[in-house]
Amino acid sequence: MTPKLVPFAGRRAGVLAATLLLGGRAAPAPAQSPTQIELDLRRWAEAHQADQVATLERLVNIQSGTMNTAGVRAAGDLVRRSLDSLGFTTSWIELPPELKRAGHLYAERKGGRGKRILLIGHLDTVFEGEQQRFRRADTLARGAGVNDMKGGDVVILFALKALASTGALNGMRVSVLLTGDEESAGQPTAVSRAALIDAAKRSDAVLDFEPDVGKGTVSQRGAVSWVLRVTGRQYHSGQIFSDDAGYGAVFEAARIIDGFRATMAREHYLTFNPAVIAGGTEVAFDTMALTSSASGKDNIVPRTVTVAGDLRFLYDSQMVHAQSRMRDIVSRHLPGTSATLSFADPYPAMSPSPRNEGLLAALDSVSRALGYGPVDALPRQAWGGGYRLRRAVRRRPQRTGRPRDGRSHARRGHRPALAPHRHGARRRLSLSPFPGWPRHAVDVRVGRGALGSAHYAVSVVSRR
Ligand SMILES: [Zn+2]
Repeated sequence: MTPKLVPFAGRRAGVLAATLLLGGRAAPAPAQSPTQIELDLRRWAEAHQADQVATLERLVNIQSGTMNTAGVRAAGDLVRRSLDSLGFTTSWIELPPELKRAGHLYAERKGGRGKRILLIGHLDTVFEGEQQRFRRADTLARGAGVNDMKGGDVVILFALKALASTGALNGMRVSVLLTGDEESAGQPTAVSRAALIDAAKRSDAVLDFEPDVGKGTVSQRGAVSWVLRVTGRQYHSGQIFSDDAGYGAVFEAARIIDGFRATMAREHYLTFNPAVIAGGTEVAFDTMALTSSASGKDNIVPRTVTVAGDLRFLYDSQMVHAQSRMRDIVSRHLPGTSATLSFADPYPAMSPSPRNEGLLAALDSVSRALGYGPVDALPRQAWGGGYRLRRAVRRRPQRTGRPRDGRSHARRGHRPALAPHRHGARRRLSLSPFPGWPRHAVDVRVGRGALGSAHYAVSVVSRR
């Protein structure tokens, strides 16, 4: 388990603060030069760089792996005290005990000026343990969650402090929601994400502060896992295709999967992948862990097949349409077989929208005005495949399907350290003076974070 390395940066809070100011403008023109207040904000943030690093150190040294609920709450308390001192009304959102999650920190500052802006992050980390305490290596930080995403939480905090220092926070309508279970969402997500969705519905714009790839994500595909269970008649193989034996579960499963391919393989932005399949006379299939074993005899018509896979889509309507076609294909059973298809909770799509583009334009104009270069949108071809891009950058192992409890931690635990200043894509990121600053105008879950909190919030906002 190698914690991440994150280059230190002190000024990104200034950029966020300036962006928040700009958030009140409807359609920002490309800003050629920073305003005086933007310069003041940046100066303040630069002057408080050591404070930012010290705060990051304190936050990282509160171990807060998702399942460490006391630790998550302690991390939340630290942030909460700062938000209290900035005049926010803060509260801890409890989740039902059966979810076994810490809950979320919510902070709100009511005002009458500008758009309603929601800043989101998370308090929990993938890593926990003493060996992931905060350490400084020259200009880099090391430790659990320095990048994902206590660094982002500190950016939020110091951007708000910078705004307060100039008086600009007065009257602003800004809320902060830091979830305690982003890396492994409490189930059902209808409960664990309810507060986030509510907060998003009350907002005009959401900014998230996850680590990025130097691009803004203004659209992202959703995903849903599915499980196909096929049943046939166990019979002597010499009778297969007869009225008595039927066609067997394996032929039926093959028909269905190939039907998916033949019907939907070419649809734009739609993908589906049968990831694991097991069939025979006896099948043990763990649909959570995606492990299976199967047995049978070559002279017995197979009785059972289970297939697990995913479905990805750019519009929720696209998902609904695809699901209905899949169910239709499933229903045309071969003789002597039957099958059921079930879908998990979908991870909603963040569909393209002019509002998202507008938010990215605001961020881009601030970035350029302050001399940090443009912030481009993640290219269309990376939508929903963004994880591959992230993986290329970070060399993280690919995950398939919807991450589930425990699994995401174990897999992520093998993540190697960042090697900044090397690859082209990395250079783009490391040239950014503020790695982790809000380059993502909206959702920054470029990858498949465990039911990414941002994704939920932004999906709701982008639909409004
Ligand atoms: Zn994260």
